[in-house]
Amino acid sequence: MSKPREELNPFEIAKRQIDRVGRRLKLDPGLIELFKTPKRELTVNFPVRMDDGNLKVFTGYRVQYNDALGPFKGGIRYHWNVSLDEVRALACWMTWKCAVMGLPFGGAKGGVICNPKEMSRGELERMTRRYASEISVIIGPEKDIPAPDVYTDAQTMAWIMDTISMSVGYAVPEVVTGKPVGIGGSLGREEATSRGLMYATREAAKRTKMNLKGASVGVQGFGNVGYNYARLMHDEIGAKIVAVSDSRGGIYNPDGLDPMKVLAFKEKTGSVQGFPGSKKVTNEELLELDVDVLAPCALENVITSENAARIKAKIVAEGANGPTTPEADDIMYERGLVVLPDILANGGGVTVSYFEWVQNMQEFFWTKREVDEKLEGQMVRSFESVWNMAQKEKVDLRMAAYMVAINRVAEAYRLRGIYP
Ligand code: NAD
Repeated sequence: MSKPREELNPFEIAKRQIDRVGRRLKLDPGLIELFKTPKRELTVNFPVRMDDGNLKVFTGYRVQYNDALGPFKGGIRYHWNVSLDEVRALACWMTWKCAVMGLPFGGAKGGVICNPKEMSRGELERMTRRYASEISVIIGPEKDIPAPDVYTDAQTMAWIMDTISMSVGYAVPEVVTGKPVGIGGSLGREEATSRGLMYATREAAKRTKMNLKGASVGVQGFGNVGYNYARLMHDEIGAKIVAVSDSRGGIYNPDGLDPMKVLAFKEKTGSVQGFPGSKKVTNEELLELDVDVLAPCALENVITSENAARIKAKIVAEGANGPTTPEADDIMYERGLVVLPDILANGGGVTVSYFEWVQNMQEFFWTKREVDEKLEGQMVRSFESVWNMAQKEKVDLRMAAYMVAINRVAEAYRLRGIYP
C-alpha cells in the first residue's frame, strides 16, 4: 500500500503547525481558528507595458495576516510559482517571526507572479511601480511596511518608496525597509538575515558543544541570505564552506570554498556551477552531504519525509522560510538533529527592518556597529527564550518557537480584547 502523499501546500502546513501548538497551549478553539485565518487579502491584476510594446497582465497579492502586536510587516516575492496560498503561509510565518523576535509588528507578505529572470530592468521597474500603486491603498508606515524577499532587492524597495512618495507629494522612506542606504536604508540590513542566522548557529553550537571553527557547512541557495551566510560563517567564524548552490545546481569541495570568489564567478557566468576545483552536486544531493551545519537558504519544502532520514548535518539552520515539512521535523527530532526553525533562525532580517523603520521614524541613524550589536542582543535573547521553552516542555525548537510566539500574540488579544 502506498503512503498517503505528504501535504506540501505551505498554507496547509502553516495551519497544521498552529493546530499542533494551539492544542498544546490549550488555547481557546476560537483563537486557534483566528490564528489560522488571514485578516485581509488583496489580489490585484494590472497591466504593464513590455519592451516590445505589448501589454501584459500580471497578478499580485498582499496578505495582511495578523496585526495584534503592531503594524503589518513582511517581504514581497517575485516568482513564477507565487500563489495566494504561498503568500498566506509566508504572511502567517511573518506573524510568528515578529512575535518570537519580540518586535512590535504583525505579519504580512506580498508577491507577484512573474519571471524576473526574463524581464528587463525597465519592465521590472514598471511592474514594481504599478504593483506598488495597486497595493498603496493598504500599505503605509503605520499600516503595513514591505521589504525584500526572493528576487526582489534594495532597488525594488527604492522604486516602491518613490512611487508612494510621488503619490502623496513628499518623501516617505519609512513605507518600506531594505532600501538602499542612500535613501534611508539601515546599515547592516543587506546582511542582517544572514548575520542573525550566524548568531543562531553560534548559539546552537555552544549548547551542543560543537566547535564551529573549521566545521563544515553546506548552503542551499546563493542569493542574499545564502551568500551572506556563507561569507559571514567563513570570515567571522572560520567555518569551512564545503558546498553552495543556486537554482541551476550546486558545487562541492571538501577542502572548502571561498564564498567571495564563488560570488565573483557566479556574477561572471550566471551560476556557481563550474567553479574551479569544485565537483558538481544537485540541489538534492547537497542537502544530504556529510556536513556539520546545513543551511537551506532557497525555497520551501526541500526537507521532506523523503530525505529527512538521510540528512547528516548536526545543525540545520533555516535561512529560507518553510524549508522543512512537519513530517521531516519529526524524523529529524527523533534522530537528535538540532533544527533551528525559520521563524527564529532567519528573524535577523525583520529585526534590522524594524531598526530601519525606527531610524526612519525618528530621522536619526545608527552606525553599523550599533545595528550589529542590537541585532546580536535581540537574536541571543530570542534564542534563549526558545531554547529554554524547548528544554522545559521537552519539545523541538520549532514547537518551542511557536509556543513563545503564539503565546505573545494570544496575550495581545487578551489585553486588547475582542472588538466591539
Ligand atoms: P534571493 O532571490 O536573493 O536568492 C534566492 C537564491 O535561491 C538564489 O541564489 C537562487 O538561485 C536560489 N534558488 C532559486 N530556486 C532554487 C531552487 N529550486 N533550488 C536551489 N536554489 C534555488 O532570495 P533571498 O532573499 O536570499 O531569500 C531566500 C530565502 O530566505 C527565501 O525563503 C526567503 O523567504 C528567505 N528569507 C529572506 C530574507 C531576506 O531578508 N532576504 C529574510 C528572511 C527569510
